[in-house]
Amino acid sequence: MRQRETGLGVVSLDGSATGAEELSAALLALEDQFAGDAEGGYAAALEFERQAVALGDEHLLARAHLCQIIMLQRTGDVAGAARRIYGVHDWAVRHGDRRLQARVHLAWANIEQLSGDAARFLEHALSAVELLDETATPYMQILHRTRLADALALNGEMDSARLRYRQAEVLARELHQWERLTVVLNNWAYAEYDAADFLRAREIAHRMQEHAAAHGFDLHATELDTIGVIQIENGEYAEAEQTMLACIARREAGQSDVADDLADYLLTLARAQRGLGAIDQAQASLAASRVLCLESDLHAVLVRVHQEQAELHAARGEHAEAFAALKLSFAAREKSLALQEQEQALARHALFETAEAREEADRFREQARRDPLTGLRNRRYVDEELSALITADPELIVAIVDIDHFKRINDQLSHDTGDQVLVQVAKLLDTELAAAVPDGFTARLGGEEFLLVLPATPIALAVQQLDRIRRVISEHDWHDTTRGLPVTVSIGVAGVSETYPRSQTSALSTADRNLYAAKHAGRNRVVAGSEPDRRTRAYRDRGAP
Ligand code: GH3
Ligand code: MG
Ligand code: MG
Repeated sequence: MRQRETGLGVVSLDGSATGAEELSAALLALEDQFAGDAEGGYAAALEFERQAVALGDEHLLARAHLCQIIMLQRTGDVAGAARRIYGVHDWAVRHGDRRLQARVHLAWANIEQLSGDAARFLEHALSAVELLDETATPYMQILHRTRLADALALNGEMDSARLRYRQAEVLARELHQWERLTVVLNNWAYAEYDAADFLRAREIAHRMQEHAAAHGFDLHATELDTIGVIQIENGEYAEAEQTMLACIARREAGQSDVADDLADYLLTLARAQRGLGAIDQAQASLAASRVLCLESDLHAVLVRVHQEQAELHAARGEHAEAFAALKLSFAAREKSLALQEQEQALARHALFETAEAREEADRFREQARRDPLTGLRNRRYVDEELSALITADPELIVAIVDIDHFKRINDQLSHDTGDQVLVQVAKLLDTELAAAVPDGFTARLGGEEFLLVLPATPIALAVQQLDRIRRVISEHDWHDTTRGLPVTVSIGVAGVSETYPRSQTSALSTADRNLYAAKHAGRNRVVAGSEPDRRTRAYRDRGAP
């Protein structure tokens, strides 16, 4: 792994945050932490989760979860990370937390890259940058752009990638983020190397070296390895050998964040030594790399170890042995690819499963809020949504629609015909309301009773529109359905500004009272008016005919 997802350095975390502010600061340190000890980071994130729960702070809890996801992915449990990413994403979106959303997308981008989906890697890396705002930390500003550049490069968009790397470089310099700058340059150099632009790669690798020297810090083993492979491609074998010896020394001094890299470094060293003609030294370095590969099941590196072995045999004129080594490398490649596919499939499956689970939950939520017969919103939906609409909109109108003499249709025709009438009335109400008030909605409250909600509508206009809808229903050609029995509705209206208190209960009871008045006044009509309205009350007081 020569491109870095994160960066250098370690922030010490003792997991001892107590108050919300301390916990937030400790989480920020972990969020902005360059690589380092992933197991330790995971343990800290678990402790932070416990503290967030104790504080009852959902926001801190979501951040603790994201830290766990990042650390899981760094320990290699990509599927575990994938399984949990939706939860945090959902929370961040529902609460409009852009900074958390941006971080989620960056973690998500890493997961997609590791599960082998370059296009989705790019998609999430793009979101991770688009969501940056003034609350983003310097770490985010630089790293998110760098990872977007990495994703562009991986998708073959080198020109766009260069633009982003340069932006990240400029930002890192402006913000005096010197160690982050090495990450930018390392990933950039590696992307050029990967795109086989070895001269450009060399130029950027030089800049990385000059930068480290100018600011007096040592490059990381990973970065030295990037420089080493680039030197080899440019035929600079002596420099490459020196670089790789320094890289391995640095690695042994314990500065590496990835334990398995040593086999890779030894292999690069062997290639440099072969380039110098030091075949015996190369053989020794390669043997050391092979031992590590076998010890730690590093299948992908082992493929290249066998290839290099074939080159070494060929350099000694041992053609039969070279051929045997090549055959070994093919076998190892197949095994490595199969294992990699398995791992990626596991991660993809976890992502898919979660996506499906979320869709399933959404579907369920949607279904639970619809009336199965008419497809309209149901009572539960009304109870969940209406109060907030009433609070937000002083000009909201609610109207209860009730089918007149509906029992007659059931009794004289059939229950089935009754159902057909309900479906058709529902459809007429819904289309007519949508035509008049696009952001309103229609719901079936139960039985043959419906609710129409008209946002931001003056009461006089609402009555006019509702009366038109009433007429559409009565003038509809019902012959095929009811064989001549008329279908009409009565409508009771309430403007929330006229009801007191301004609540769902009082709005609906005013509408209900007006509906009652409409029935008593002879049905097939619209009645509006608030409680102090004598005329409206009069209908009710007169009693049922
Ligand atoms: P009014 O004009 O006073 O509203 O008279 P109405 O006959 O419409 O009122 P009433 O409340 O007496 O009757 C409503 C009927 O609606 C009674 C019930 O059996 C019927 N009903 C309720 N739900 C359904 C349904 O889902 N399908 C059918 N077909 N009938 C239903
Ligand atoms: Mg009724
Ligand atoms: Mg009725």
